[in-house]
Amino acid sequence: KLHNEIQEFRGNIRVYCRIRPPLENEPQDVSHIHVSKFDNRNGSQAIEINKEDRNSKFLFDKVFDTKETNQEVFQEVCQLIQSSLDGYNVCIFAYGQTGSGKTYTMMNNSDGVIPMTLDHIFDWTRLLKERGWNYSFEAQFVEIYNEQIVDLLRTFNPDPGPKKYEIRHDTKSRRTSITNVTSIKLETRAMVNTILKTANRMKSIAATNANERSSRSHSVFTIKIHGTNSTTGETCDGILNLVDLAGSERIETSNVTGDRLRETQNINRSLSCLGDVIYALNGNDMKHIPFRNSKLTYLLQHSLIGDSKTLMFVNVSPSSGQLKETLNSLRFASKVN
Ligand code: ADP
Ligand code: MG
Repeated sequence: KLHNEIQEFRGNIRVYCRIRPPLENEPQDVSHIHVSKFDNRNGSQAIEINKEDRNSKFLFDKVFDTKETNQEVFQEVCQLIQSSLDGYNVCIFAYGQTGSGKTYTMMNNSDGVIPMTLDHIFDWTRLLKERGWNYSFEAQFVEIYNEQIVDLLRTFNPDPGPKKYEIRHDTKSRRTSITNVTSIKLETRAMVNTILKTANRMKSIAATNANERSSRSHSVFTIKIHGTNSTTGETCDGILNLVDLAGSERIETSNVTGDRLRETQNINRSLSCLGDVIYALNGNDMKHIPFRNSKLTYLLQHSLIGDSKTLMFVNVSPSSGQLKETLNSLRFASKVN
């Protein structure tokens, strides 16, 4: 809109598939997976899975094979990040079973989508300053666990007392917000590192088993972007949401009871609700979009509608022992695409 040409895509929703490399303790043979980068005239890329003489093929906007790095992935993301500096609302999700590479894609030390996004926006704002633009950024980092909001930045809050976190929807501004949540002004890139480290520590403190917990919660990193131009008086406001979703593995509800059953139902419901919302948005059936059916979609509502831009990664494991979950993930993602 303001600073860069936005390419036309099919709708505002894109889906990228990423296959992680086999881990040391997994079979190294990945010949049952085939990626083709030039599948058809639309520019779609394909992933094909061969399983017992059956061949399943799925088309996505991009497919990253086992050898492609986080840097290469980010090349295909940074245009979307720039849109948020132009005032668009942007959501990037990582969807997939536990162990498929969601966290690696979103936040692997210094080179996942989150750290590289922060590098990128700080670099860009320096450039845009020369054109009269001044930017400010505010960050929030929450976890949605069992339909409850956990503030991962609460140690930065000067008032440490217990808080009630609720999602409010302001019909006038058409924005949602979380009551009492800590919001931090991002001033330097170094400061951001401290914030991310603290948030990661909070995740593990909250859990007796950090991996187990992270596979059962959604983590949502939000940057609110405000720009003003000192010469023209123009302003722009964008929001960037970077979301590491709960593991998508189908959890059987038949063998669990009590709290565990409720937790399982909440995960299954919020992921399928996200699928329904993206599917509805893609088909432009705006009347019946079930945003309120889960905390996640309710919170992200204003970042999904209108001229917002959404990217979903579907992360998959290359392991032949995981094919059932891999096919489930690919089916889910190709349905929303
Ligand atoms: P998830 O967050 O989906 O549960 P992780 O991101 O933790 O999965 O990935 C599982 C394991 O695979 C981790 O040890 C991670 O370092 C490794 N891994 C994931 N994706 C890649 C990749 N593209 N390249 C190298 N290692 C990867
Ligand atoms: Mg993870």
